[in-house]
Amino acid sequence: THTTTDTWQGGLTADLSKILLTEAQIHQRVAELGRTLASEYADKDPLMVGILSGSLLFMADLVRHMNIPLSIDFMAVSSYGDRTTSSGEVRILKDLSNAATGRHIVLVEDIVDSGLTLDYLCDVLRTRHPASLEICTLLDKHEARKRPLQVRHVGFPCPNEFVVGYGLDYAGHYRNLPYIGVLKPAIYTT
Ligand code: 5GP
Ligand code: MG
Ligand code: MG
Repeated sequence: THTTTDTWQGGLTADLSKILLTEAQIHQRVAELGRTLASEYADKDPLMVGILSGSLLFMADLVRHMNIPLSIDFMAVSSYGDRTTSSGEVRILKDLSNAATGRHIVLVEDIVDSGLTLDYLCDVLRTRHPASLEICTLLDKHEARKRPLQVRHVGFPCPNEFVVGYGLDYAGHYRNLPYIGVLKPAIYTT
């Protein structure tokens, strides 16, 4: 159901200045994306690669709408820590468990901001000669892009503000919010 918003009033929600995407909006769009990917990759046995930890909820919901053979894998990269802007410095903390060679890879990301992380990861993965490599992101903060990046599937455009929820964190928190909102700047500027 999509009625949990009420039970989430107060608590974490009090730290948001506004709700950007409701649970119902997210659910509907993710289902759409899943069905689109399922038809595009019907005969390709894609390797769905989530970038930890932000893509966790998105991946879990997305693949539920892909009724085709596929595999799921994850990579972890160095993150911003407690900061809210990109350092541009990327380190692989956990690599794929599957071989990438010859596979149709779909990188599943929570949000593309500067594009530095995915630009780097795509370079790394291309050296392994996948059959194809595409990006599917839930949110696209297009204004913040510092590298041109081909993003094939976008859930929603995102304003250039710091957002949390549905996998997206600030200092490790808020990932469990079932919807996405803008974090009050007072939370991270003190
Ligand atoms: P990029 O390398 O494209 O600048 O961003 C990479 C990562 O930074 C994203 O996958 C995400 O984890 C984090 N990030 C970027 N913008 C936001 C935001 O508005 N909120 C949160 N919680 N994380 C963000
Ligand atoms: Mg991410
Ligand atoms: Mg983060």
